[in-house]
Amino acid sequence: METAPLIDPFAREISYLRVSVTDRCDFRCTYCMAEHMQFLPKRDLLTLEELDRLCSTFIRLGVRKLRVTGGEPLVRRDIMTFFRAMGRHLESGALSELTLTTNGSQLARFAGDLAAVGVRRVNVSLDTLDADRFAAVTRWGRLPQVLEGIRAAKAAGLRVKINTVALKGFNEDELFRLVDWCGAEGHDLTFIEVMPMGEMEEADRLGQYWPLTDLRARLAGRYRLIDLTERTGGPARYVRLQETGQKIGFITPLSHNFCESCNRVRVTCTGELYMCLGQEDRADLRSVLRASDDAAVAAAIRAAISHKPKGHDFDYSRARISGQMSRHMSHTGG
Ligand code: SAM
Ligand code: SF4
Repeated sequence: METAPLIDPFAREISYLRVSVTDRCDFRCTYCMAEHMQFLPKRDLLTLEELDRLCSTFIRLGVRKLRVTGGEPLVRRDIMTFFRAMGRHLESGALSELTLTTNGSQLARFAGDLAAVGVRRVNVSLDTLDADRFAAVTRWGRLPQVLEGIRAAKAAGLRVKINTVALKGFNEDELFRLVDWCGAEGHDLTFIEVMPMGEMEEADRLGQYWPLTDLRARLAGRYRLIDLTERTGGPARYVRLQETGQKIGFITPLSHNFCESCNRVRVTCTGELYMCLGQEDRADLRSVLRASDDAAVAAAIRAAISHKPKGHDFDYSRARISGQMSRHMSHTGG
């Protein structure tokens, strides 16, 4: 099989794959899902074997970093079989990082197994440290279970990064509480601007939008912020708080243009390859996986990457949301 690196039309090398392993979740976060979601029939999902073939093909084509997401990845049945399969690429050195984004609800069960297959870091989504608010925003989630999962991850030796969606009027008053808690626990912390995904009413979504420029200004009122130059090829920017040494990230897909350094693509749980989170253009890899061999899968990936667009079209600045996407984050994976 041809294994030249994946280079897109704008000379960006694709080395980072996010793969969604399920559209299901045990939470129903208000900004992510409707309360009564219609989930996909099982036959539409890639099997664990198909996920293995697909991700292994990407790795042969130069993907070095794999992030597993969902829906909630840890509610997929037998998901550790897939993590173990990907662990072999860590052992061979083909993959430099295997990681996941999780709501934390199942971490108490799986943290030890994840560490054993070579996972070193985990992103846990947590928008509030208040149990009632947590129940309100996740609808079905319970804070103590997630906090226990985070403790288990730390005890297993995993580095934890907390991802917090900045929601106006919801967690604005918890900014310093979250920063202090992460500092005390030794977790990195990244704030995410809410994105126009899913089917939420436009008025609600604009009402929830808390620009990270404002959040950053509030942080600067209490700490000296030192800009860090490191880039991940994604939409995150980092600062260090001089007083505590903590690293704080900001993911601002809407107010910053990060596309020029984009090194990543996404695969949904149904095997659709999205070349850009903010565009509808996609390639169906499931039919190739089911009909052909790995060489054909590699050719299909390469063909799709040759169409990776230059950037996305999200824009809140025009009062209405242009470039809004109808699909949910739980479908493409965050
Ligand atoms: N269930 C896992 C979790 O919650 O971490 C993984 C999937 S979730 C879709 C990935 C990330 O997307 C989470 O950090 C979540 O907060 C974020 N997310 C979901 N909907 C979003 C939205 N509309 N805007 C910004 N971030 C969103
Ligand atoms: Fe589930 Fe994650 Fe979406 Fe919340 S953000 S509903 S935990 S997939």
